[in-house]
Order: sequence, then structure tokens, then C-alpha cells
Amino acid sequence: MTTATQKIVPFDEAITRYDPVMGLEVHVELNTATKMFCGCATAFGAEPNTQVCPVCLGLPGALPVVNAKAVESAIRIGLALSCDIAEWCRFARKNYFYPDMPKNFQTSQYDEPIAFDGYLDVEVPLEEGGTRTVRVEIERAHMEEDTGKSLHVGGATGRIHGADHSLLDYNRAGIPLIEIVTRTIHVPAELAPAVARAFVTQLRDLIVALDVSDARMDQGSLRADVNLSLSPKDSGVLGTRSETKNVNSFRSVERAVRYEIGRHAGVLDAGGSILQETRHFHEANGSTSAGREKSDADDYRYFPEPDLAPVAPSREWVEELRGTLPEPPSERRRRLQAEWEFSDLDMRDTVGAGALDLVAATVAAGTTPAAAKKWWLGELARRANEDGTDLADLPITPEQVAAIQGLIDAGRVNDKLARQVFEGVLAGEGTPDEVVSTRGLEVVSDDGALGDAVDRAIEANPDVAQKIRDGKVQAAGALIGAVMKEMRGQADAGRVRELVLEKLS
Ligand code: ZN
Ligand code: MN
Repeated sequence: MTTATQKIVPFDEAITRYDPVMGLEVHVELNTATKMFCGCATAFGAEPNTQVCPVCLGLPGALPVVNAKAVESAIRIGLALSCDIAEWCRFARKNYFYPDMPKNFQTSQYDEPIAFDGYLDVEVPLEEGGTRTVRVEIERAHMEEDTGKSLHVGGATGRIHGADHSLLDYNRAGIPLIEIVTRTIHVPAELAPAVARAFVTQLRDLIVALDVSDARMDQGSLRADVNLSLSPKDSGVLGTRSETKNVNSFRSVERAVRYEIGRHAGVLDAGGSILQETRHFHEANGSTSAGREKSDADDYRYFPEPDLAPVAPSREWVEELRGTLPEPPSERRRRLQAEWEFSDLDMRDTVGAGALDLVAATVAAGTTPAAAKKWWLGELARRANEDGTDLADLPITPEQVAAIQGLIDAGRVNDKLARQVFEGVLAGEGTPDEVVSTRGLEVVSDDGALGDAVDRAIEANPDVAQKIRDGKVQAAGALIGAVMKEMRGQADAGRVRELVLEKLS
């Protein structure tokens, strides 16, 4: 039921009457050099329709061949999620018509996924402080191919409705995807949004650690779908689910869960029924709107793909790949916390902000853990929040953060100027060094220039100067302040203090 007067029940109220039943699906685009079933390149951002061939365009008679590297990545993802790996499995055709899918079926897996029955333990930050570990069970992780991209031109919204015409880019068609599907996640209702966010965040950390995808939500190489229905409290009655597609940031995953809980409650309260449909999430106001009515599996007429041989990974190969897995995320978190000497609260904040990998990379680039955390959870978190984006998607790298901290450590900029360096880097003005020189941000520690400024400050504040001569050293603050003001914050405050005391002793 979608009407303009749709009532959204506040989240806190909705969960007093309903229990959310939630499942998540995450699509991960693999970083293989070539596509799933052909040799076309997979690079992001190429000219439209330049990375295509008869196979990925679905031309008659073209025959697909499985990309071995993609199978390897699928197995490694499955193992990292503690899944069983199929001894034998097949691809299946998922039939539906959509212009961005030239074959009119997607080569996917159906009842024989390559990986199944796993779990991921996620650390969920609690509002009252501390974290809680929630085991999210993984039903399956299967291999499939991505679709092309449609661009709807001429409308106000970029959606097909109201557009004059549509353009199609098949560069993405056939890029290998792994679809990871959770079982129903059972958690207290008030935790559902935070669990959804934590799962996607920590799944991304794992994917990045496996080095199988760049897993960028903003570029669509990691896409999360939120399946949600409500069950009246203690009724045992399951509701109809909606599927909010392609939510493109961690923060939005959390918001989408909250919004859908409130929306479903509004519909159910009014005696309406929920339509089984896909929904679009809107970043600007955190709402969702109706997409297409969702088919049940049998509408897709799945059948085994006749053009591809079954995949039967040998147990030796699977064990060999098990040996390549990175440290399990929960162990890694414990190790890093000990190495960094972080309190539970520090760690909770870092993990909760999706900053664990960023802090780790910044520390690896030579910054102390405390300084790395300070920037990512302070200045940069504030900026990400303002922009409505995730930390990882900010246009600044951990190496650049480390470089800025290096400028502070070397005394070339102070904390205040460093904030301007961050601003410049985020605005695309170049590397930290370039920003310092083009904006002229370097602190002045040259004694000549500083000495002149100190002399002027003494002359302008004779009373203060006299106090210092009389031994009231704490009065020096006023003179240092005057010098800093004259030099627009770009003086080395420590050196200014020394000069003031030298001159007045
Ligand atoms: Zn191709
Ligand atoms: Mn899929």
C-alpha cells in the first residue's frame, strides 16, 4: 500500500507492538581482471560498451566459459564465512526480461550454491555503551553475473518514469558477483538497525581483507538489500516482506531498516497489507518508495545452465585455499585492540564508525593508533556525517591522513592548520604537501620573522610585558596569543613562548 498519506510510525513505538523479521543479501563484485564467463575487461569507469563481446552481449551461438579466479574467490569468501563448500554444483538460468540483461536470463546458481551454511560473528555497538556479539547465519553464498547499467535520460529523477529515452551500458554485464544471503536474523527489535549496519560493515572488512573485491558501496561494487517484514509481538504470525534494494552506504542500511519498520507498522496499524515488492532507498530523506512487484522464485523458471560444465572443486584445492585466509575478523579485532592499547569504548567507537581498516592502514603508514583514531573519528567522521557518506568513501586515503599527522609531528603545521590541510585534501586540492604550499599553511618557526612579531607584541602590551619581567610567567599567554593572531595562527607556539621569555628575562 503506497499512498501519499502513508503514516510512518516512529521506530521506538513500532517495536513495542511488532517484531522485525530481517534478512540481508549482499552482492559483491569480484576484482577479477576479466568477466565471469568471457575474457572482457572489468575496469570501472570505461567508455560505455567498450568492454563487451558476443558472450556478455548474449549473441546467438556464443558460449560461456567459467572464470577460474572467480570460483577461487567464491570459495575463499565461503570459507571465510565458515561455510561448507559444495563438492559439485552447477550454474542455473534465472529467467526474466530486463533491457540491461541482454540474454534475458541471468546466469546464477539456484539450488546448488558453491557455499552454504556459514556464519559471521559481528560486533554490534550498543547505545548504552559496550558491544554485543551477534552471530549472523549465512544461508548461502553463490556465484552469478552482474547486469548492465541503464541510464534514463530526460526525466527529473533519473528514474525510468518520466524519462525521454534510456541508454544502456553493457560493460558491467557479466562481471562476476558473489551473492551472500543471510538466514533470518533473530535479535531484539531495538537492535535490528544496528545489527544490519554492523553486518554489512564487518562483511565489507572481511571482503577487503580477502582482497577479492574493492567492495566500494559508493561505486556499487558492494550492494546491500534489506529484506524486512513485521510480526505482531508474540503472535508467531509472519508478515509479507519488502526488499529494499541496493542501499549504498553503511549508514543507509541502518536507516533503511528503521524506515521500513516504521512504514510496515503504519500500513499494518491501518489494517492494510504489505505488498511483496522491491523498494528504492532515498538518501536525501531516508525514505523508501515502491519499485517493482517482486516475483517468487518459481516465476524465474530456474533450470540448470546447459552451456556450462558443473563446478567440482577438489578437496585439496579447497584446503589449499583455506590456508590463504586472512586472520578471522573477531580475532583480528582482539589483536588490534591489544596492540593499539585501545579501551573497549575506543574499540567500539572505531568498529562502529566503520573505521577499523582505516585506522589500521593509517597506523601501518606510520601514525600512532591514538592519532589515527583521533582524525578518523573526529574531523573525518564529522565530515562524513555532513556529506551523508561513509568514512571509507571520503576522498582521502589513510596514507594521506598519516602524512598530515607527519606534518604535525615535524612541527610544520599545528593542529589548527592541519584541519585546513584536511579540508584541502578533501576538496581535491592535491596531496597534503601540495595543500600546505598552495594554501601557504606552513607554520613560521623562523626566528627572524617570529622575533619581529614578538617585539611588536611586547611594544603593544607594555603592562603585560612588565608582569612577565616581574616573574609572572603565566602572563606570557597574552603575548603568545597576540603573536599567533598577527600571524593568523601560523606561528610555532612553542618557539614564540621561548622567544617571549628570552626577551623579557
Ligand atoms: Zn564479454
Ligand atoms: Mn543476485
